[in-house]
Amino acid sequence: MTVYKERFKTLATNVVHAGIPNPRIQGAVVSPIFQSANYLMGDEAAYDEIRYLRLSNSPSHLTLQARLAVIESAEQALVTSSGMAAISTALLAFVGNGEHVLTQKTLYGGTQSFLDQDAPRFGISYSPIDLNDSNGSNGSNGSNGPDAWSEALRPETRVIYVESITNPLMEVGDLKGIAAFAREHSLISIIDNTFATPVNFRPLEIGFDLVVHSATKYLNGHSDIVAGAVMGSAEKVEKVRQLMLHTGGSADPHACFLFERGLKTLAIRMQRHNRSGLAVAEFLAGHPAVEKVNYPGLEGDSGYAYARELFTGTSGMLSFYLGSSEAAERFLERVRIPVHAASLGGPETLVVRPARSSHLGQTPEERARLAITDDLIRTSVGIEDLDELLEDFDRALSD
Ligand SMILES: *Cc1c(COP(=O)(O)O)cnc(C)c1O
Repeated sequence: MTVYKERFKTLATNVVHAGIPNPRIQGAVVSPIFQSANYLMGDEAAYDEIRYLRLSNSPSHLTLQARLAVIESAEQALVTSSGMAAISTALLAFVGNGEHVLTQKTLYGGTQSFLDQDAPRFGISYSPIDLNDSNGSNGSNGSNGPDAWSEALRPETRVIYVESITNPLMEVGDLKGIAAFAREHSLISIIDNTFATPVNFRPLEIGFDLVVHSATKYLNGHSDIVAGAVMGSAEKVEKVRQLMLHTGGSADPHACFLFERGLKTLAIRMQRHNRSGLAVAEFLAGHPAVEKVNYPGLEGDSGYAYARELFTGTSGMLSFYLGSSEAAERFLERVRIPVHAASLGGPETLVVRPARSSHLGQTPEERARLAITDDLIRTSVGIEDLDELLEDFDRALSD
């Protein structure tokens, strides 16, 4: 029988080799695309053992899932058709009618919309909590920390849901505190690790129960598929898979093939994203045309201390304020290398104005309250030559 248990010591080796079938199928070095919806019947004893694409058990799925589990320090992983399929299925697997979720105050737009528009129809409610400054060192007397989280807790709270780095302000909160709080109150803790990636941070190692990803971003890393993943204990991931058999968010084998191919370079890509992200953040922080930079790798950033403690790198995601919407528009028109587009985590540097994209649906007052003003530019720093990129930014910012 083919087994998918191969694993090595380091992440850089595991992104290339972990989970590869033994013996290799037909001797193929690279996982082929198993573009077959159904498979010969064997000795299946239960419905979910039948081999069929929606059940996520083709060889294309099994290699990728074994590899994803290894790199996130998980027992099991499930690949999904999108990040939102991973997120909505993971949430619905652990919270139901009459139950409640604690959520980080700012969340990815799709997740926030799911909680606002869809979850109430399933009888699910949520309360936002602030993850920063749990020890009250900001003169807040702990009003944002475990005391405040406890106040938001209800008897029917089941899940706590957070992100490792938030969009578009790149906030990093007290994630260790959240994992401990979840344990203490018997909540399932779920974290979206899309922005940090397992190269920089592995939340299961500090006690989170489940990790979810939009693999559309860094994990695949080439801006050419939509996919997602859920990682955690075998028992919890199996619970998510059982629900996905019915909600149907399974990944196609061709997407699995591209995902596995993209994943092989995750370690070297993130090295470059980390280095260039920090360099661009430092350059912008020292530029007279820039008012403020949000990047957890910068000393003085609100998330710096937490990022330093928990992460080994801070990715290529940053945002900065240019003082006016005119200056922001002018910058977007003048940069030549960055592409003006949504999404993130690919080889090409991307720039976007959150007030005109992800947060267009909110009123200017709401945006101002969140510090997502009209002059804010979000950047996904790609893997282009750093000097050439900095030159381009400098030229676009000069008079
Ligand atoms: C893009 C994104 C998602 C949604 O992923 P899709 O693959 O587009 O469904 C979820 N969380 C974060 C942080 C994202 O950036």
